Amino acid sequence: MRSGRHFLQIPGPTNTPDRILRAMHRAVMDHRGPEFAELGQSVLRDLKSVFQTKNRVVIYPASGTGAWEAALVNVLTPGDQVLMYETGQFATLWKNMAAKLGFDPIFMQGDWRTGANAEAIGAQLAADGGHRIKAVCMVHNDTATGITSDIAAVRDAMDDANHPALLMVDTISSLGSINFRTDAWGVDVVVAGSQKGLMLPPGLSFNAVSEKAWAACEAGGDRRSYWDWRDMAGPNDQGFFPYTPATTLLYGLREALDMLSEEGLEAVFARHARHAEATRCAVEAWGLEILAVNAAERSNALTAVLMPDNKGADALRAEILDSFDMSLGTGLNKVADRVFRIGHLGDFNDLMLMGTLSGVEMGMIRAQVAHQTGGAQAALEYLAAHAL
Ligand SMILES: *Cc1c(COP(=O)(O)O)cnc(C)c1O
Repeated sequence: MRSGRHFLQIPGPTNTPDRILRAMHRAVMDHRGPEFAELGQSVLRDLKSVFQTKNRVVIYPASGTGAWEAALVNVLTPGDQVLMYETGQFATLWKNMAAKLGFDPIFMQGDWRTGANAEAIGAQLAADGGHRIKAVCMVHNDTATGITSDIAAVRDAMDDANHPALLMVDTISSLGSINFRTDAWGVDVVVAGSQKGLMLPPGLSFNAVSEKAWAACEAGGDRRSYWDWRDMAGPNDQGFFPYTPATTLLYGLREALDMLSEEGLEAVFARHARHAEATRCAVEAWGLEILAVNAAERSNALTAVLMPDNKGADALRAEILDSFDMSLGTGLNKVADRVFRIGHLGDFNDLMLMGTLSGVEMGMIRAQVAHQTGGAQAALEYLAAHAL
């Protein structure tokens, strides 16, 4: 028995607010009945404003990984080249999936400390005179490294190269936390999930689909069944789905959409930016390094912090879990045990952030991690001086 609340400060799944938990605490309904049609239609309609698109959004009962697969198989034909960029572990996993499915990923090498280089992407596209590359796949916010890439710049590079490839972007850990403008940035397929900025439990994922991507899906695509966008359109127009949707999660989604619209998307983004900046103040005061080297690419959803002697992050996280009942994100793949990740996205406020940063600082004292004192103090001074 542990008294008080557990602090779930991994960068997803995030804390599900009580309002959403209560909204889901209902009897399961007939997913072919009239009451459901109203729910289905309302979430399919209102999701569009969160994606900042006028186009169709598709909902799957699946984790985010499913929506990755859906994006690829609906528009690509086996052997098609896809251009991807190594911003961290999530870009790597999406690339691995593309290869497994029989597509031909060109994986532009990154260093896990900087975001997608739009200029290099443009050069790669300009060199592809035969237009063999059918899609450019980017991770907006790579949750493994805490790096946010400039998607508008990637779009500009594609346009400058006059390249017709589709632009597909993973926003699983940015949608509803960091501004992402689907239509304004000319994004053809957006991939998203329920358990990060949308504050829901895991289990729903999404594709927003441009007209161009929909046409590619109608004209070609890979073998697909469960993921087929074409099967969604007809039933979705009536508020229904081709197979049983995750009914209970959709009640939660309805509530999450209400919460985001009550706060206002701009205010949601500003809140995340402010909490991220306070976190960065704390890390700087501790004398530790943030994995993302470019200030403009530092994520507003999470902060990946390098351990002072490049190891021991897992022991620190274990100490913090044991002593203070707080979960922090683990270092993945190339940065395993070298970084810990502080999630500051989703349903979050100043005092939750201060509890989180205090837990990190107390953990470093207990685990004897070399650091300067005063990080939590720096963060609270920032928050007090920058009231919303
Ligand atoms: C969490 C995450 C994923 C994986 O989503 P699952 O729901 O675990 O399948 C993919 N990409 C990014 C950027 C993520 O943050």
